[in-house]
Formats: sequence, C-alpha cells, structure tokens
Amino acid sequence: MQEQAIKKLVIVGGGTAGWMSAALTSKLLAGTLNIELVESDAIGTVGVGEATIPPIQVFNDLAGVDEQAFLRDTKATIKLAIEFQNWGAVGDRYLHGFGYIGRKVGAVAFQHVYLKGLAEGNAGPLSDYSLNNTAARANRFNRLPGIGGTPLAGISYAYHFDAGLYAKFLRGMSEAQGVTRREGRIDEVLLDPESGNVTALRMDDGGEVSGDFFIDCSGFNSLVFNKTLGVEFEDWSEWLLCNRALAVPSGSVPESLRPYTQSIAHGAGWQWRIPLQHRTGNGHVFSDEFMSEDEAAGILLGNLEGEALKDPLSIRFTPGCRKKLWHKNCVALGLASGFIEPLESTSIHLIQIGITNLLKVFPTLGDNSAKEREYNRRMRYEYQAIRDFIILHYHLTEREDTPFWKHVKHMGVPEALQQKMAAFEEAGHLYRVDEELFTEVGWLQVMLGQGLRPRSYNALADTLSSAEVRDYLQNLKTIFAATVNKLQPYDEFIKSCAA
Ligand SMILES: Cc1cc2nc3c(=O)[nH]c(=O)nc-3n(C[C@H](O)[C@H](O)[C@H](O)COP(=O)(O)OP(=O)(O)OC[C@H]3O[C@@H](n4cnc5c(N)ncnc54)[C@H](O)[C@@H]3O)c2cc1C
Repeated sequence: MQEQAIKKLVIVGGGTAGWMSAALTSKLLAGTLNIELVESDAIGTVGVGEATIPPIQVFNDLAGVDEQAFLRDTKATIKLAIEFQNWGAVGDRYLHGFGYIGRKVGAVAFQHVYLKGLAEGNAGPLSDYSLNNTAARANRFNRLPGIGGTPLAGISYAYHFDAGLYAKFLRGMSEAQGVTRREGRIDEVLLDPESGNVTALRMDDGGEVSGDFFIDCSGFNSLVFNKTLGVEFEDWSEWLLCNRALAVPSGSVPESLRPYTQSIAHGAGWQWRIPLQHRTGNGHVFSDEFMSEDEAAGILLGNLEGEALKDPLSIRFTPGCRKKLWHKNCVALGLASGFIEPLESTSIHLIQIGITNLLKVFPTLGDNSAKEREYNRRMRYEYQAIRDFIILHYHLTEREDTPFWKHVKHMGVPEALQQKMAAFEEAGHLYRVDEELFTEVGWLQVMLGQGLRPRSYNALADTLSSAEVRDYLQNLKTIFAATVNKLQPYDEFIKSCAA
C-alpha cells in the first residue's frame, strides 16, 4: 500500500452510474479501499437508460458479471444494431449495426470497393455486407466469435436491459464485495474552507459521511459538481435542439421482439423502442420549442406496439457537459456530469469510460493535478466526439417538412464534423481521430444511410476490375446470409436467457 493512498471513497448516488462505479472499484481495488455509497429511495433514480453498445461487455467482464445471470436478472435482450427510420427522408430506413462492414481488399478500404460497386450498379444495400445487419434483419442470433473457414469476425452485440434491475444486480455484487450502502437524503455537501475539497456529506438525519475522494453520481441533481462546486456547464443546445423526453413502458407483443433498437424520427425529435424480455421501453425525445408536450405524448402513445403500462414520465434536460469532470477531490459520472440524448445509446458507455479512466489515473492523497488534467482532457474529448456524431444524424437530412427539420438541416455544425462530412463527400474518405468512440464503420453507415453520396472513391479501387468487385461483394453477401441461416431464431434465444 502506498503511503499516500486514498482510504475512503464515497459514491454520491445509486443509479446506474453509482452502482457501476461501486461494482468496478470494489472489484478492482478489493481490499485496499473502504467504499460507501449514499442514495435515497425517496428521491429515486431517473428510471430510464436501457440500450447499450458492445463495450459494455468489457465492463461486465472486468466487474466479474456472469452473463447468463445478468441476462436473466435484468430481463435483458440482445442488441445488434439500431434501426433509423425517417431520418434522411420520411419513409427511409437503415441499420447502424455493430461490428464490421465488409473487408478491405489488399490496400483498398471496403467503402471504396463498395462505392465502386455502387457506381457500376454492382452493389446492393450496405447492410448486405454486414453480418450484424444481416442477422438483425433475419431476426436470428447466437454468440458467434468468428465465421468458420474465413478470416471474418463473428457477431458483435450489446444489450437492452431494465436499468433499475441492472443497478440492483450491481448493488448485490458490490455489497458482496464490501461496499456499504447508506440510505437517506443528502442535505449538504461540506467543504474544507482552505482547499475547497469536499470533506463530507451531511445527511437529513444530521449524520455525516466523510471521505477522501468523492464520485458525484447524483443524476440531474448534480449535488457536488453543480450545486456545491459550481463547475460550469457547457450548453450544446445550439446544435442539439431536443430538451425533453417522455418515457413509457408498453406490454410486449411478439412482433416487437427484434434484436435491435428502433429510432423513429418524428416532426420535432424521435421515438425509441427498446424490446426487453417482459416489456418494451418507449420514449419520445423532442424539442419543446417546436412541439408541445401534449402533441409529443399523442405521437408517442399513438406509436406504441403494445398497451401502455403507465402514464408517460416527463423528463427535462439540457444537452451538454460540465467543463471539468474531475474537480478538487471529486469526479462526476452519469447525468451529474452531462447528458447527450440517447440516440446512439452512449450515456452508460460514458459512465463506463469515466470509471475505467479514473481507475487508470486513480488519485492519491497527494498532488493529483496531472492526473486531473489528463482525465479531463480524455473525458471532454469523448463527450465532444459523441456530440458531433449525434449532430450528424440531425444535420444530414433531406427533410424540410417541419420547422424543426428545416432548422437542423441548415444550421452550422462544429468544425470537426464539417471536415468529416466534407472528406466523405469528396472521395469517400473516412477517418477516426484519436480513440473516438465511433469508428469509420459507424460514420459510413450513418452518412450513407442518410443520403450523403461521395462524388468519387479512392483511385486504388480502380485496380480492381468491375467483375472482381461484383463477385467480391456477392461472395460476402452469400457468406453472411448462409452464416445467419444457421443461427437460432431470436425469440428462441431470448427464451433461453430467462432461465
Ligand atoms: C430520456 C432518457 C433516456 C435515456 N436512455 C438511455 C439509453 O438508452 N442508453 C444509455 O446508455 N443511457 C440512456 N440514458 C442515460 C441514462 O439513463 C443515465 O446515464 C443513467 O441512468 C445514469 O443515471 P445516473 O446514475 O447518473 O442518475 P440517476 O439514475 O438519476 O441516479 C441518481 C442517484 O442519486 C441519488 N440522489 C440524488 N440526489 C440525492 C440526494 N440529495 N440525496 C441522496 N441521494 C441523492 C438518487 O437517489 C439516485 O440514486 C437516458 C437518459 C434519459 C434522460
């Protein structure tokens, strides 16, 4: 044990962010740290957040989660992709699948092979060259690490789960690993007058919870970062107009059990459908500048596949993130740190990378300024890169049918996004900056899916003849289709998860 090691970590809040933090720190720092989590049943959690992306498997593995128990206890289903409807134009639909698309040919990146095939009438929809999307459309799934007899990788997947059950599941693991849970309302966060560091939380019963380092997981309340430390918030409403959500669960119907999330654009926002084992999660994210809550509720309730199980829950938010995500002796995670609408299911992922990045530069009782700088640099970058990818979905559209779509189509966008779109439009060029979350394959699917057609492709693709490109694409499509044919029908797989 280092002399300066932190002895007591306090987690402020017990939603998804709080319990993910508790589960991972108690697993990886076992025996070196006393961890206490404070939450209030009376305040409760935000109660939404059900779709994830594949890196969650890395989190679950690190935390020692047993996948079968997790699938059963959180009523989870498998997610292979997101289907976007009405985004590029009303009536359009495309899949943004996880995993890879096609495979490069020698030095020629796949998108150039595909674009050449497209220009010469020898290519089908992009989805045909994605194993994930082929499986999603066929409603089939099995865990599949690779395609036998080929160098092609297998299926990449994430989960849809009940967020409340996931927090409960992680709570069980955390408590078994020694985390203490304190129930009650925090009335005040106490600061050291000299350093400005947080010293303790004052509870509603007058008790205090003290610690060396604090993780603010108090949700939109942002008790430490906003209400106590006053860390400035960077507002991104200029590009992300939606500021409201209505969420409602509906009963399951057989046709709603799909291995993908649906995102259906409406007049001033979009609707999600997330099928779980026992119900479907639905929500309508919209801008209240362009649509009233009554109208938004009518659209949501009119587009449910099963019966509404409750009245819609109304949530207000401001898109953006805090200018610092580590300040003094505190880190903010989850909604306390910021929020980008769940169009690509990135919030739980941001919690995951927040906690794993913190573990990489875990503080001591001494000087943490270099660690703090590095943490803030990485986390701000992650937030901004995700922000730009989400803005792309709105901006890249032919829609002008409502004032909302007219606005987002013609608005200015951040410079980095402009450059990515221009590079693709000019010659199908795709690039990933640093370790940004969404890879070239994600950008390719959304840009083509929403109608951005490159003017040309890389000259390297012309080293392949038209017939070579045609046969290559046909071959890939055939391999994926044959592989998917052998997978289990999705509903059968999901039944096996309940056991
Ligand atoms: C509409 C919507 C849809 C979303 N969909 C997705 C999605 O599909 N995928 C995804 O990855 N993410 C999604 N998210 C984000 C996701 O819900 C959150 O990232 C995640 O649930 C984490 O929330 P949290 O733990 O930060 O906050 P919360 O769940 O709100 O938890 C806050 C905790 O702090 C406690 N607390 C607060 N104040 C006090 C106090 N004074 N005293 C004591 N305790 C206190 C509360 O009791 C609670 O335990 C969505 C968010 C919204 C708003």
